[in-house]
Amino acid sequence: MIIRNPYKRLDVFRCSQEAHARFDGRVSAYHVLKEKRCYPDGCLYFLWRCALMEKGRPCIHRYRYVGKNCKGCTYYLEEKIHIQPQNLLDPGAYESFLEEVEQFDDWLDRIRYRRMDIAGRIRIVKPWFEQTKQGGETHTRLRGYLLVVRNGFIGLDRFEDTFYVRVRERHMHESGFVPKMKIELEGEIREDRGRIVIHRPRKIEILKKGWGRPWSRDRALVAVRTATLLREQTDLCLGCPWGALADITEEEKDGETRRYRNLFCLKGIPQPDGCYVLGLMKKQKSASMPRGAERIIRT
Ligand code: SF4
Ligand code: SF4
Repeated sequence: MIIRNPYKRLDVFRCSQEAHARFDGRVSAYHVLKEKRCYPDGCLYFLWRCALMEKGRPCIHRYRYVGKNCKGCTYYLEEKIHIQPQNLLDPGAYESFLEEVEQFDDWLDRIRYRRMDIAGRIRIVKPWFEQTKQGGETHTRLRGYLLVVRNGFIGLDRFEDTFYVRVRERHMHESGFVPKMKIELEGEIREDRGRIVIHRPRKIEILKKGWGRPWSRDRALVAVRTATLLREQTDLCLGCPWGALADITEEEKDGETRRYRNLFCLKGIPQPDGCYVLGLMKKQKSASMPRGAERIIRT
């Protein structure tokens, strides 16, 4: 069976909210249908404003943009806004899309948490971090690496989309994963924000050698030291060799523990719109370019 992930589709909905406007209003079907469940009713959001910054004056607390820390400040203003995503498909096409979503959900329900045979060619390899934040201090630890595979096999099904394999440092040490390498393994199927992620790989076999130098622990740690936190987790950055995920555990002042995931740019670029790395990749779209990058440019 051929499986495609309909939640990654960007041609179904468009939204005029400011955060999405930077990507021509493109929003993933996952964001609309699963994460926010905002179609057709829309969502309410609060527009955070600063009376000082709007007059071109600096923040009295030296913040560079308005955020959650501003609440309570005299100059902080909040506006309630209702917004709706627009459906770009005609009724027939939308019906087919919903069928596609249902079939994908059924397929995923059958295999979720099961161990399956996985095969495919690695497009990109990137570090995967863990950060612990406590009492104003942040500790970073390398948990392993993420192998980005496109058009591979999950069980007997051909998955015509991207999926991810989490490998530990010792796996990297033993197998030296690099782009273009063909691999086979056994792993547990999980879903993470609409993406298929293979956990706890075993029986790893390398069928064909790859291209380039594998990541080492030292290189990965140096890269994360100069990385920038990306405010949005776009598919563009997730599919880029320099976009690295970090699992964050934060101890709040009230003793609560918050767990979430951040995305960092290992090239130190603050936002993906206007990212020069992508511009360079477009220019170098030739035989020398890693194939993983072709996908990024098309995205
Ligand atoms: S309506 Fe709200 S939640 Fe839905 S896509 Fe737009 S901004 Fe996101
Ligand atoms: S290099 Fe550009 S596309 Fe890649 S992670 Fe950084 S900002 Fe995103």
